Amino acid sequence: MSMQNVGRPTRPESPASDADAPFASLTGGRGLLQDEPLIFELGGWTKTGVDLPAADADASDLGDLVRAEPIGLPGLSEPEAVRHYVRLSQKNHAIDLALYPLGSCTMKHNPRLNEKMARLAGFADLHPLQPASTTQGALQLMDRLAHWLKTLTGMPAVALPPKAGAHGELCGLLTIKAAHEAAGHGERRRVLVPTSAHGTNPATAAFVGYSVQEIAQTEDGRVDLADLAAKLAPDVAAIMVTNPNTCGLFERDIVEISRLTHAAGAYFYCDGANFNAIVGRVRPGDLGVDAMHINLHKTFSTPHGGGGPGAGPVVLSAALAPFAPAPWVTHGSDGLTLTEEAVGEAAQAFGRLSAFHGQMGMFVRAYAYMRSHGADGLRQVAEDAVLNANYIKAKLADVMSPAFPDGPCMHEALFDDAWLDGTGVTTLDFAKAMIDEGFHPMTMYFPLVVHGAMLIEPTETESKRELDRFCDALRALANAAKAGDTERFKAAPRLAPLKRLDETLAARKPRLTWRPEPIPVAPAPLAAE
Ligand SMILES: *Cc1c(COP(=O)(O)O)cnc(C)c1O
Repeated sequence: MSMQNVGRPTRPESPASDADAPFASLTGGRGLLQDEPLIFELGGWTKTGVDLPAADADASDLGDLVRAEPIGLPGLSEPEAVRHYVRLSQKNHAIDLALYPLGSCTMKHNPRLNEKMARLAGFADLHPLQPASTTQGALQLMDRLAHWLKTLTGMPAVALPPKAGAHGELCGLLTIKAAHEAAGHGERRRVLVPTSAHGTNPATAAFVGYSVQEIAQTEDGRVDLADLAAKLAPDVAAIMVTNPNTCGLFERDIVEISRLTHAAGAYFYCDGANFNAIVGRVRPGDLGVDAMHINLHKTFSTPHGGGGPGAGPVVLSAALAPFAPAPWVTHGSDGLTLTEEAVGEAAQAFGRLSAFHGQMGMFVRAYAYMRSHGADGLRQVAEDAVLNANYIKAKLADVMSPAFPDGPCMHEALFDDAWLDGTGVTTLDFAKAMIDEGFHPMTMYFPLVVHGAMLIEPTETESKRELDRFCDALRALANAAKAGDTERFKAAPRLAPLKRLDETLAARKPRLTWRPEPIPVAPAPLAAE
């Protein structure tokens, strides 16, 4: 394995033996896919891909701030740069390539119509500081989007600025904190979170300065009502409950959960990341929810993965609405404006969550998605997502072990690793073997409450044919594991460019910078090759 001077391995491990890889190319290439180093390792410092006239030595006003050292950017020609990024893109799995079964992520198709709308110059070329008189269309779109979000959730207010689900959680908890403080209840500093919660829930509560306490889960994967009731007390600020929960199950007692919470003077924050399973069928406002983020990049199909961009608007109950952060769209005599100042009706806002108004490109995509589906289409989204997950659960139930076998699931099928007992194969081994079969693994080891969890969310945009291909591959692998073909799993992935990386080390001690070797010689003057 070759290492560049500071960072990660950049080339595949050469196979240790013939058993590890039936065939190894001489160069690390695979089929028509070449190995690809970092762009800095590619570029010669001494050349440039652009022709610029030589700089006038006297032209700078920067005085002694003028750069004395070479800038150290890789010099690539256009075809070299294009190939670099296209090769990197081939190493990525993408929803446009195949099913992306990550549970709790709602990786669905991103309709091209949305992309086309987001690129309309009237949206894409706006600047956030433009006068409102020139941005009426964009403001109207935000207003219409807000209307749809409020209607679909049955909630009276929405804050559009949050830029991800986790950011929405922050927005919701800061709103709840502001409401408690305004009511003279700053002593409420504890947040209750079920054991199956997504990690962002306790992390957000801790970030806001709250202490976090877990609520136990029942045998059938739901919130333990007795445990919740016992833990609700005058110092509890809020509960954070995901519905459908991360086990892919609807919280049947959700109305009772909200009643108990309100009776204790706390607010009900609902993690709405799984809204896809109920959109158009259930209005969280009817269930007693006070605040809920909606991941536009999940339910409303805006692209995600690789860290963004996302958008996590938060719908709010009447009790919390006055504490929502600025800005929001207001109807005035001369059209629509963004209310930016914390005065008048906005006086109780906790402040701003981000510069400007939020992720405009995501708003356009989500709105285009809503309009092209219509109310009936959105309801069918939820129905088909649930149907697809149940299809997978049913098709694999005889070879794998569903974590909650009784009754149907919602939008994701959750398996545990009981069915692997005695095979010597772990959840991780199984997931790695899926890569060799051309499938991205499902979410593994989450939720934590299920041993060796495998969480599969197909979404509604997969056809029966794709679901069958996926299930056939998993069945074949399951049978191989049970037939004792352990070697297949322990050596997997054999066909991926990189084998098993030390993911713990990568997460705990990430190397995020690349430091160059000393730049050998000063670059030749620009334009000279
Ligand atoms: C995805 C997800 C989040 C976090 O959303 P981001 O947009 O990734 O910040 C929170 N909770 C659950 C249940 C999720 O699935």
